[in-house]
Amino acid sequence: MIKENLQKLTSEIPDYVKLVAVSKTKPVGDILEVYHEGHKVFGENKVQELIDKQPHLPTDINWHFIGHLQRNKVKFLVPFISMIESVDSQRLLKQINKEALKQDRIINCLLQFHIAEETSKFGFHFSEVKDFFSSETFKNMKNVKIKGVMGMATFTDDEEKVRSEFKQLKRYFDELKKKYFSDDDEFNEVSMGMTNDYKIAIEEGSTIVRIGSAIFGPRSCQL
Ligand SMILES: *Cc1c(COP(=O)(O)O)cnc(C)c1O
Repeated sequence: MIKENLQKLTSEIPDYVKLVAVSKTKPVGDILEVYHEGHKVFGENKVQELIDKQPHLPTDINWHFIGHLQRNKVKFLVPFISMIESVDSQRLLKQINKEALKQDRIINCLLQFHIAEETSKFGFHFSEVKDFFSSETFKNMKNVKIKGVMGMATFTDDEEKVRSEFKQLKRYFDELKKKYFSDDDEFNEVSMGMTNDYKIAIEEGSTIVRIGSAIFGPRSCQL
């Protein structure tokens, strides 16, 4: 089933949109099934689960971290992670930079914005980041590379609500791009869209969709 799911999904997603296969709660065998179809980008949202699975899987997998990240766990991801999509505070970004410097890596990051109604969803508010990128503190962070933004819409059937939240995230991206990253060709990612809302997200300008259930099937518990 996984193979068919993946094929169906990739045929529906335009070429310019990257797919992150969200493998949280799923076993190594399921991940290999997707990998052997030629797909190499996977997402996980728990540090422990990721570092348990990663050594058992091919080293050319690009791992995206998509969950809330505690600063004391950054050091475990830095050796191998390709992107941390869920940077939700300046303190976390500083910690990633510090560890990356220590381990001699440059870590790709997305800034996670709070766009949903739910208070539980992590993320920056736009006012918190606005002036940060012109600060010396940011300019001195040589071991993190900000590639764009990430967000999660409210979990609801109300399509217009979801659409307006995605529009909001795209506006944040556009404003940051214009003000702080206009010379930076690598600031170009808008990560939005999951199983239930990726079509709307793509219509609203997503460049990365993060999809779990539509590939691997439903998870036994919502994590
Ligand atoms: C679980 C998760 C996804 C994927 O969810 P599905 O609904 O299974 O596609 C995407 N993004 C984040 C941040 C997640 O935690």
